[in-house]
Amino acid sequence: MKEILQFDNEYLWHPYAALRKTPARFLALSAKGTKIQTAEGLELIDAVSSWWCMAHGHNAPEIVEAIQAQSRKMCHVMFGGFTHEPAIELGEKLVSFLPKGLNKIFYADSGSIAVECAAKMAVQYQYAKGHPEKCKLVALKGGYHGDTAGAMALSDPDGMHMLFRGIMPQHYFAERPCSRADGAFDEADFKSMEKVVALHEKEIAAVICEPVFQGGNGMWLYHAEYLKRLRKLCDEKGILLIFDEIASGFYRTGPRFAMEHAGVLPDIVCIGKALTGGSITLAACVASEMVAETITESKISAFMHGPTYMANPLACAAGIASLNLFANRDYRLEVARIEKRLKQNLLPLRNLENAKDVRVLGAIGVLELKAKPSAEDVLKIIRNTGIWLRPFCNYVYTMPPLITTDAELDRICEAIRLIGECEPQPSSDGDDEFHE
Ligand SMILES: *Cc1c(COP(=O)(O)O)cnc(C)c1O
Repeated sequence: MKEILQFDNEYLWHPYAALRKTPARFLALSAKGTKIQTAEGLELIDAVSSWWCMAHGHNAPEIVEAIQAQSRKMCHVMFGGFTHEPAIELGEKLVSFLPKGLNKIFYADSGSIAVECAAKMAVQYQYAKGHPEKCKLVALKGGYHGDTAGAMALSDPDGMHMLFRGIMPQHYFAERPCSRADGAFDEADFKSMEKVVALHEKEIAAVICEPVFQGGNGMWLYHAEYLKRLRKLCDEKGILLIFDEIASGFYRTGPRFAMEHAGVLPDIVCIGKALTGGSITLAACVASEMVAETITESKISAFMHGPTYMANPLACAAGIASLNLFANRDYRLEVARIEKRLKQNLLPLRNLENAKDVRVLGAIGVLELKAKPSAEDVLKIIRNTGIWLRPFCNYVYTMPPLITTDAELDRICEAIRLIGECEPQPSSDGDDEFHE
């Protein structure tokens, strides 16, 4: 085991990590339900749903079987010139799962690509409307939309992507909403967005944001009223509204989609992560009839994007099985249960000396610390408690699989408490985990 880990350390780049310098890494052998088995004999409860996608738990048998069955028929076929049943069936299921009015689906191979597609679609829409000058977007500070160049350019401008400014398109940013999801809405919150839009109105194709839950760049939960103002402003100015529900969709914040907290529909929505129940990569950019028709009826009627693995049949089969699971279980109830348990366990952690804030919504629980704990302490707690957590910056959080039991949630919250009680780290320890 030591040898293969050595190879890994020397030759394999991991997400946001250095070659050679990352202190420790677990060798995962298998995973089932909420748990991951490692080569050193640990069984870890996956409290972050393997970066937020493993909604039904690991290796849900229905999903595994769907992938196996599809693989015997056809692993892949190009989506140009061909279509296939898994793509169509998943499309039908998505149209009825998504809010009414969002139904023109572009399958993408990852969340970042879905965001790229949404931005291109907005620009192509404005072009079709006779506004080629409208080719900028407005995004929120503190947002995260992915790692490809176009998606980076829409993520927090002071965040993890600063180094790449030179290759990124330049967009506009409004301040992140300060009103808490669980507090009152402060009217002043919307001023920055109004100002940015007023200043650049003529160039703006769309506004993009993560509704209610800003994930990868700060684990922030903000007031849904903001989204109502945003919808109204976009309507008044002929600007499209894009919601990135890649993290917040599929019941993570309580309802199916976070937009339901505001009762507001976007013109384009991006979904991903839990779409296949975390089994295989697939995302989608879904447009309203109005957006799709405008593009279709224009001179360049084709939407100009098309990845090699578009609508991969294995991924579509996994998506169908995942949507069946979402339909067969009352996840709204499960998430309400999880939220209650997280609140009971985590809200008291506000009193820890090193605590700055605690926030809970749906199956999201965040302990924001004043100073981050050391990577060694976190590792020790993971080993001792058997809880897999992945704190970044000052955020210790859980986004557990939606099937996590109350007893498991208690253990997860206990591990979070232990991390919150660690001696904080005086300065950066060189472990460059920045993201998620
Ligand atoms: C994870 C995430 C993305 C990027 O998705 P990938 O599949 O990692 O490319 C985009 N937006 C949000 C809100 C995300 O949480």
